[in-house]
Amino acid sequence: MQPLQPLTPALVAALRSSVGDDVVATDEASLDRAGRDETENLCFRPQALCLPATVEQVASLMRFAAEHRIAVTPRGAGTGLSGGALPVAGGIALSLERLRRIRSISALDLLAEVEAGVVTGDLQRAVEAQGLFYPPDPASRDTCLLGGNLAEDSAGPRSLKYGTTRAWVLGLEAVLADGTVIHTGGRCRKNAAGYNLTQLLVGSEGTLAVITAAWLRLTAKPKATLVLLLPFAALDAAAQAVAEVLAAGFDPAACELVERGALAAVAALEPLPASLEDHEALLLLELHGDEPDELLERAAGIAELAERLGSGEAAVAQDAADQRRLWAVRRRVGEAVKHASVYKEADTVVPPSQLAAAVRAAREVAARHGLRAVCYGHAGDGNLHVNLLRGDLPAELWESRRDAAEEALFAAIVALGGTITGEHGVGWTQRRYLPLAVDPPSLALMRQLKAAFDPHGILNPGKIFLA
Ligand SMILES: Cc1cc2nc3c(=O)[nH]c(=O)nc-3n(C[C@H](O)[C@H](O)[C@H](O)COP(=O)(O)OP(=O)(O)OC[C@H]3O[C@@H](n4cnc5c(N)ncnc54)[C@H](O)[C@@H]3O)c2cc1C
Repeated sequence: MQPLQPLTPALVAALRSSVGDDVVATDEASLDRAGRDETENLCFRPQALCLPATVEQVASLMRFAAEHRIAVTPRGAGTGLSGGALPVAGGIALSLERLRRIRSISALDLLAEVEAGVVTGDLQRAVEAQGLFYPPDPASRDTCLLGGNLAEDSAGPRSLKYGTTRAWVLGLEAVLADGTVIHTGGRCRKNAAGYNLTQLLVGSEGTLAVITAAWLRLTAKPKATLVLLLPFAALDAAAQAVAEVLAAGFDPAACELVERGALAAVAALEPLPASLEDHEALLLLELHGDEPDELLERAAGIAELAERLGSGEAAVAQDAADQRRLWAVRRRVGEAVKHASVYKEADTVVPPSQLAAAVRAAREVAARHGLRAVCYGHAGDGNLHVNLLRGDLPAELWESRRDAAEEALFAAIVALGGTITGEHGVGWTQRRYLPLAVDPPSLALMRQLKAAFDPHGILNPGKIFLA
């Protein structure tokens, strides 16, 4: 393979005349912005930030990059947490933020055709205004873009009932590494015609193609919601409750866990309501349905089950303001962790039955390395965000202990039948752990797929695989 080439000033000038002067930015502020995402303090500046506004401009840019062997790193809003949008090989940062049209919303087909630069929350509000619903709900939904969600297969609390982003994608418009525009899948809810390229591109983290638009499935907006908060004195009981609630068919839309360490981090920011102090774990459940009374009945069944397992008194909220209040602790954990200490977040997943074992493993690994672990996450999906905190550890010890602890943590999680990322992707920061979770023949097949889509290795180089 011919090595990647630097984007020299002469090539920048040629790029400007090829794709349009207003598409290419090389000023310091633009390069600095394009060199970062939300992953730690990493910065890798590109030589140009390109902001195409049409699929034709994306195609022409990719043809240029392929001809001159220039690295291209697609980016959405740069909210990624695994360094996927960092242009680690320089070259071009390709922002999709100007492709921001909702092309159509069809209530009859329960379908939206959207461009990659639409903010997730904007689509949700647009469809909800028509009584429709697009469920994927990453916490970053008011800033992140649908193209980024598709590239990461992003998820959120509601993926327990509704599935992750990939469950809502029927087809894609994408630009290949050589500039060819393809359309995969389409507008139909069923499609058995050939290999499922749509689902291959979803979660491919910008390494196989640039997604420019998507056909997304919609559903009817639930008429009623209810939120239920359950405090537990024992972690095992909370984990057991998760498994039993799911097995009993209570069908929660969300089932979130906040364990003691995470509660303490929130309490350090603001006093917790007295009813939430001194618990080993909280479970927060959201129910969706059509009839408020039916939701109350389900909530009573869940509370009874949880009580049998030792939970404290349940809090129930049916109106929006009370629901926001119950969600508040869970929503503040991320910010509270950032505030507490320098940290490293691992996006672990285990089968739900292994949740308590995963929290214990995280605490044990952290303690063994002189760190503290704070855990919270999407318990129903077994997706536990483990934050390793530096605390008072001197900076010179932090990096080596952090890396050793992270590796030991992932090994323990994989031994529990889990994997190394549930929704944040492998990107740049997790790539050395991929072989823990994927067997060598599968890894080899993944590399062959990468070579088939991108023979010159220009699309998001350095990501997912170690060189
Ligand atoms: C406060 C906060 C909360 C978060 N909460 C959640 C959460 O609840 N659930 C969750 O899953 N994630 C969460 N995230 C992570 C992040 O928001 C998601 O990964 C999101 O999908 C990234 O979207 P983005 O537009 O910012 O993409 P970027 O960060 O810009 O890019 C992410 C990856 O996608 C690729 N990419 C972007 N656009 C395209 C495209 N059009 N075509 C091809 N590749 C592309 C990039 O190359 C990169 O590899 C959170 C992040 C923050 C900062």
